[in-house]
Formats: sequence, structure tokens, C-alpha cells
Amino acid sequence: MQSLGIFGGTFDPVHFGHLNPVRETASALGLEQVRFVPAANPPHRPEPVADTHHRLAMIRLALAGYPEFRIDERELNRTGSSYTINTLESFRTEFGDKLPIMMLVGADVFNEFNAWHQWQQIPDLAHIIVMTRPGHPVVDTSFFEIKNGNNPDWKISQDINDLHSEPRGLVFFQDVTPLNISATKIRSLFKKKITIDARLSQALPASVIEYIKLNNLYVDHP
Ligand code: ATP
Repeated sequence: MQSLGIFGGTFDPVHFGHLNPVRETASALGLEQVRFVPAANPPHRPEPVADTHHRLAMIRLALAGYPEFRIDERELNRTGSSYTINTLESFRTEFGDKLPIMMLVGADVFNEFNAWHQWQQIPDLAHIIVMTRPGHPVVDTSFFEIKNGNNPDWKISQDINDLHSEPRGLVFFQDVTPLNISATKIRSLFKKKITIDARLSQALPASVIEYIKLNNLYVDHP
């Protein structure tokens, strides 16, 4: 393998706002494989609404037909908080130091990046690819400058070739087709029992909609 993409999330449920930006990014950057890494116990947010086995089943349905996308269950198999830094260390242990590893995040996640556990060490392990997300402009990159004082290897790059010649340490901004979709919005449609609706079919795959209906997910959550 020449390069690996990693895409973490709660996927509660997985939707086109995940799938399409990642597909576009993988194709733009020439990523051979992207691992979808569902979080078990995300430290920065409330517990997922759907049980882990349901979230996994929905990702499986959504990724069927995309052999370059795989589910990676390492965070689910770990006890305690799912810190990204530990996940990246575990990928490095598995794949070694030389493989370019690109962590894909939406702009909303990137904006809160400096609240993450040991965030300063993250670029020592992977590149960060920031995908545009409607309603979430990147507001502040000044924390990089702070970090740059300590580690001159961490820098913003605009050259895709750099992402392949260096294994880690670059921040790259990738424009993707804007999709105003969120799992929160989807859960609220199911809660209101709005299940036959153009908003839903544009937001997530039909197979996932069917699964949610069949298992009565998101109907009773607060
Ligand atoms: P919730 O509404 O429950 O907070 P979410 O829709 O943001 O969920 P997550 O599973 O939390 O989905 O997100 C996983 C990753 O996908 C994050 O990096 C997030 O920024 C990104 N992402 C989610 N929706 C979009 C979107 N519409 N466009 C671009 N990136 C997105």
C-alpha cells in the first residue's frame, strides 16, 4: 500500500455527508484505501444514540460496493475513551513510519482540533486533510503557528505531491461539493417519524434508511 486514509466519526448514522466528501477526497488525493473508524466513546461529545452494532451494520451497508473503503473496528475494541492520538499510534504500529497516513476531518472538527487530547502530537503521526463543510468555515489556524514554533515540520501544504512524499505532518485543505447534511438532522427526522421524505433519500443510502426503519432506531431518543 502507498497511502492510507483514516476517517473517524460516530456515524450515528452514516450519511452522504460522510460518503461523498470522502469519495471526492480519496479520488483527488489518490488514496488507495480509506478506513472508516467508528468511535466507541467519543471524549468530546455525548454517547452515540444507536448501539455500536447498529452503527456498524449501517456503515457496512453504506460501504457495500466500495472496495477501497473499509471499516476499522480498532476503537470499538479498545476500552475507555477513544482518543485519536491512540488510534493513530496504533495505525503507525501496524503500518510503520514510512507510509503516508492522511486523517480526513470535516471543517467543524478541525475548528475544535486544539481541544483534542494531545493534539500537538497528532501531526507527528499523520497528515490532516480538512474537508469543507457548509456552515463551518475554518475560523482559525493560528494554533498551527504556535505549534510551528516547536516543530518546523508541521505546516500547511497546497501540493498533493507533498502528501505522498512525506508520511505525516502536513495540513491540507480539500474543497468538496457542499452537502448540508448532519446525523443530528437525520435523527430528528426519524424521531418525528418523517421517514418518507426527499430530505432523507438525499441524505443517506436507501439501504441505511431501511435498516433504521426496520430496527426502529432514533424514534425514542431525547
Ligand atoms: P452529528 O450531527 O451527530 O454531530 P455528523 O453528521 O457531524 O454527526 P460525525 O460522525 O460526527 O457526523 O462526523 C464524522 C466526520 O464527518 C467529521 O469529521 C465531520 O466533520 C465529517 N462530516 C460530517 N458531515 C459532513 C458534511 N456534511 N460535510 C463534510 N464533512 C462532514
